[in-house]
Amino acid sequence: MWIVEPERMCNRHLLGEHNEVHMLIGSLFKKRNISGFLKKRIVEPQSIRARHDAIATEMERRGYNHRSPFPGMPDMAYLGKEADTVVDWVSSYRDLMNRCERCREMAPNKLE
Ligand SMILES: [Zn+2]
Ligand SMILES: [Zn+2]
Repeated sequence: MWIVEPERMCNRHLLGEHNEVHMLIGSLFKKRNISGFLKKRIVEPQSIRARHDAIATEMERRGYNHRSPFPGMPDMAYLGKEADTVVDWVSSYRDLMNRCERCREMAPNKLE
């Protein structure tokens, strides 16, 4: 889910991730179990605001209307230690590059 700098994602993945971030925030507010995402290290709870805002900024730069502001930080105490999970960026980025030709075209350099 949390893949790479928003500037390096194609439009489809940029908008898709924006939706996913809002869904994740909703899940956190409802205190849903997100262990699956955390075990795969594809989301980073503590950076959720920074991630949302970076994506929103990039959306506006590309001419999209962004009408869903960050709703505020959910209480993530229920996640326990997992709230400090950090994204495995290298593996997430590789995965995206393998999956999406347009994202690949936006990559500044090729990963081995
Ligand atoms: Zn938004
Ligand atoms: Zn893409």
